[in-house]
Amino acid sequence: MKKLLENGIYSENCITDFPPITYPAHVSLLTGTYTGNYKKEPSHGIPLINWMGRDFSPPILRSYAATNLQIYNINKEIGNNCRTILEMVGDGNTASIAQFINRGSNYVFPERKTRLALYYLLLKYYPSVKRRMIRSNSVIMQKLVETFKKPKKFFENSEPPIASLIWFITSDLLLHKFGFESRIYKLNLLHIDKVIGVLIDNLEKIGYLDDTAIAITSDHGNYKADKVGNISSFFKQRGLTHYHPLRNLKGNMNIADYSGVGFFNFKGKVNPNNKNSWPRPITKDLQNYGPKRINLLEELFKINGSHLMYYRDNENTYNKGTIYLKRKIKDSGEIIKGRIDYHSNGLEYKTRYILDDDKDVFGYIDDDIASQLLDNKFHSTQEWLKATYHLDYPMYIDLIPRHFKNPRSSDLILSNDETVIFNIHHGKQKGKNIYDHDRGIRSCMVVPLIIGGSSEIPHKHIPYCKTTDIVPTLLNLLGKSPHNSVIGKVLI
Ligand SMILES: [Zn+2]
Repeated sequence: MKKLLENGIYSENCITDFPPITYPAHVSLLTGTYTGNYKKEPSHGIPLINWMGRDFSPPILRSYAATNLQIYNINKEIGNNCRTILEMVGDGNTASIAQFINRGSNYVFPERKTRLALYYLLLKYYPSVKRRMIRSNSVIMQKLVETFKKPKKFFENSEPPIASLIWFITSDLLLHKFGFESRIYKLNLLHIDKVIGVLIDNLEKIGYLDDTAIAITSDHGNYKADKVGNISSFFKQRGLTHYHPLRNLKGNMNIADYSGVGFFNFKGKVNPNNKNSWPRPITKDLQNYGPKRINLLEELFKINGSHLMYYRDNENTYNKGTIYLKRKIKDSGEIIKGRIDYHSNGLEYKTRYILDDDKDVFGYIDDDIASQLLDNKFHSTQEWLKATYHLDYPMYIDLIPRHFKNPRSSDLILSNDETVIFNIHHGKQKGKNIYDHDRGIRSCMVVPLIIGGSSEIPHKHIPYCKTTDIVPTLLNLLGKSPHNSVIGKVLI
């Protein structure tokens, strides 16, 4: 990686997505666009790994865990208002190695769908076997190398692939289980470095290196929580029960995901002719919810560790609206409020951040550069990137409304500080891991970017960028233009 970095483009401030969670972050980086109202505007359809599909009555609970075959719906559910990089490169062979998001790929490894899920299941439950991890990294890299050496075996002609994806899932599995300070996690990163060396050596040997750009990045960073908490009795006491389409249709809440950040779905006023539908609640419903008529906008802050809350205005549409923000100050219990307004017209999208009483939910106000955007005016994605990439909650003013525009996103988001993690997926608590990556702090939101290989790639240090810039930059190197949904900018 150092070799690629020393001759290519690199940035140590590449900002990923909101939320910094595996699959939504992958989709943004592989399409060059963000989520949004995927039916109506240029954007992709994946807001979370776990989400509630309210187009259905009763709603479906989608789960893209790597060990669940529902993951293969992701290629359809990305939607038709965006393209993967493999779809954008045009004619030519394309390969996708151990990457579920593979629309536009001529060759997919492993060939049988159940294989990849089974493989990740094995890795997940036996990750203590160091050799298994090392084998996994090597096997998938060997497969990629083979597509260059023997293209005829994988494609209809003997041309090498013009674009390929490869995903090393091992670093995520080891992060969650052993943590980012562990020896095995660090050894695994070194091993990934080694197999990238295998790719470079092989490309050099067969004479393709100078025609190749290798982009290396990550979907998210990481953090460590103090402990795993339990909140099942908290909800029971307040008359909140978990909805399940088969086991509990009467449930009045769905927690799609809650590790460090909670994504809550609640049921609005139901049409008596369609009792199993889940219309979105309005603010009044959230303030007077369930059999015990609780005010969720205050009550949920009683969950241990919670300190940030975001929810929609009632009048929001995909091209205009408001997201309300709250922060609870730990010692005093004081609540700081603010809001984000957004308006969009196709790719023209701008947001403004309005403070209540000059107090700032995200802490931008203390920074000389970021505070300049607290001027009650609308600002572009690039302006927010430039002003906040060096802070916690980078680009959040831009990214949060994009997430809420997706009809598959939740009604209310609650973020914890570092003290407690819950590991809840669709209402069920799973595992005792204290390592995750879903919060807005810099250590979760900032990833590295390296693009190197061909001598045509300029040597350039980029002070800040975003993961959606990778796709248009690679397309530019290929002489191709991006689909009209691409938000990222060319970094050359
Ligand atoms: Zn993860």
